[in-house]
Amino acid sequence: MNERYSAIVKSLDLQRLTVDINEEINIERLQTMYFDFDGDREIELRFIDPRRFTAEQRRFAYALLGDIYAYTGEPIESLKEVFKLRYEALTGLKISLANHSTNTVSEVGLYTDVILDFIFENHIPFKNGYEILPVNQEYYFYKCVTTRTCCICGKPNADIDHFDKALGRRNRKTVDHSEYTFAALCRVHHQEKHNLGVTSFKNKYKVKGIKLNQETIKKMGIGG
Ligand SMILES: [Zn+2]
Ligand SMILES: [Zn+2]
Repeated sequence: MNERYSAIVKSLDLQRLTVDINEEINIERLQTMYFDFDGDREIELRFIDPRRFTAEQRRFAYALLGDIYAYTGEPIESLKEVFKLRYEALTGLKISLANHSTNTVSEVGLYTDVILDFIFENHIPFKNGYEILPVNQEYYFYKCVTTRTCCICGKPNADIDHFDKALGRRNRKTVDHSEYTFAALCRVHHQEKHNLGVTSFKNKYKVKGIKLNQETIKKMGIGG
């Protein structure tokens, strides 16, 4: 049996949290639950996002759905149902982008990641490129790299560029690639990045270089 309470955070250290619980804990019930148990008494913590999802997030979700519709011909309404079901299967929670919905920035962020997954898996072309919102950035640019999809135009078989800091004359085989950031860029956008330089390129396209772990670096053959 689960005992659920809500609480307000009073102080937060890296590994120590003080909270005021909103109601009195039912000690008797806990004693019954822990009777004869000497293991660690675990609890679950969930930080509740106070930010309601934004209009930009809704626009982003519809831009993604629009591109899937343009490519597959599947009506937006039925696409919405599919992705809502996927989100529910993943989280056990409902999601809605309607005006009265109280879903949060984090929740809709995850919902749009679910749609992005489909876009990458099925190589759906981006019609106009996307303005990637902060909550989706990490996931989006990571998926672009691992699926070699140009993060600006969505072309497949993109180059993997050492993004923020160039490899230069360092030896590709011996250098530690996990200290670098990467972006997936098609021929055209890769060339443009080197012509403009990383700073101007970032100002123009808002691309974020992302770090990769050793396993991914190896799997993608980045070390040559
Ligand atoms: Zn491109
Ligand atoms: Zn490059």
